[in-house]
Amino acid sequence: MIGKEVFKGVWTLGEQRDGEISSVSYELLSWGRELADKLNVELSSVIIGYGLKEKVKELIYRGADKVYVVDHPSLVHFKPDVYSRILEALVKEFSPEIFIASATTMGRTIMPILATRIGTGLTADCTGLDIEPETGLLLQTRPAIGGNVMATIKTPKHKPQMATVRPRSRKPLSKDTSRKGEVIVKEYPEEFYLSKFKILDFVKDETSQTPLQEADIVVAGGKGLKGERNFRLIHELAQLLGGAVGASRSAVDMGWISYPHQVGLSGKTVAPKLYFAIGISGAVQHLAGMSSSETIVAINSDPEANIFKVCDLGIVGDLFEIVPLLIERLREYKEGKKNG
Ligand SMILES: Cc1cc2nc3c(=O)[nH]c(=O)nc-3n(C[C@H](O)[C@H](O)[C@H](O)COP(=O)(O)OP(=O)(O)OC[C@H]3O[C@@H](n4cnc5c(N)ncnc54)[C@H](O)[C@@H]3O)c2cc1C
Repeated sequence: MIGKEVFKGVWTLGEQRDGEISSVSYELLSWGRELADKLNVELSSVIIGYGLKEKVKELIYRGADKVYVVDHPSLVHFKPDVYSRILEALVKEFSPEIFIASATTMGRTIMPILATRIGTGLTADCTGLDIEPETGLLLQTRPAIGGNVMATIKTPKHKPQMATVRPRSRKPLSKDTSRKGEVIVKEYPEEFYLSKFKILDFVKDETSQTPLQEADIVVAGGKGLKGERNFRLIHELAQLLGGAVGASRSAVDMGWISYPHQVGLSGKTVAPKLYFAIGISGAVQHLAGMSSSETIVAINSDPEANIFKVCDLGIVGDLFEIVPLLIERLREYKEGKKNG
């Protein structure tokens, strides 16, 4: 890219919604902290929005050494033209060597625009990031060719090296209020904030249930369910627990449930508080999508199943006996609560 010759530091893109910093910002800082420590450089977070100035200290408590904030009433909602103009100005002024964003709607929209504007590369939707010890280059790992291979990509000739990372691929670092850092508030001329976009309204999608990746509880079923009709057990349990339904690739391939429910390497990455793996063997490709879950409960009839190596609570037995019992008990419990 055109700009300074010296590129230094790791940057993460913070996100906000309605003036509140989104949790993906903290997940990204966890990735960024590791990269910055390996390179022995500063970690900075950039955040654009309105009404953020008082809140950005949280980014420092979660790992940033520095925060660049651009705060203006016209930035309250994400507008790709204005946000990318601002990011381009910031990158050209401060020349980070690495700039990562979350593979959210915002990250997936803005990072390609930015990469094109500044003339560098971008690896989208990474599941792993690391630093190559010999060169200090960013190693950007992501599934490729329909998930059949894991490709590790480097950007040796252009800077900054840019990547988006799957949300929920990392847990945020715990909050440390003793951390100190610098907050830099950047201001730009008014014409910078002019947009071609006009936001008319926001309409909540009432049809969708808790999105898989945001659910605190995920109940996932695998080939052990033995058929589409039996998959209702998974739906029922998920509903009683107020959770979302997940599935292994085998269950999806058999047509028992649709692809958006697939958890794993070539599906979604989840990290709920509670993950049920029911009739799932625990293949590495499945574990890649759920092993960061806080508590994993596995139900499997094979005591040697790999899932028992990663679970916190393992139940060896027939799911067709255990799951209906669980459903019954949960119903009784709920009824009992209703009746006082
Ligand atoms: C490139 C690539 C990408 C992939 N991506 C993904 C991915 O994103 N997600 C994913 O899940 N997989 C993925 N896979 C597939 C993965 O390798 C496994 O094949 C898949 O996860 C197995 O699904 P499963 O555990 O449901 O089935 P199985 O491995 O067949 O396991 C079924 C389990 O059910 C148990 N069982 C059977 N009957 C009962 C019963 N009555 N009660 C209790 N337990 C019972 C069995 O003991 C067994 O452990 C990928 C593979 C490749 C090559």
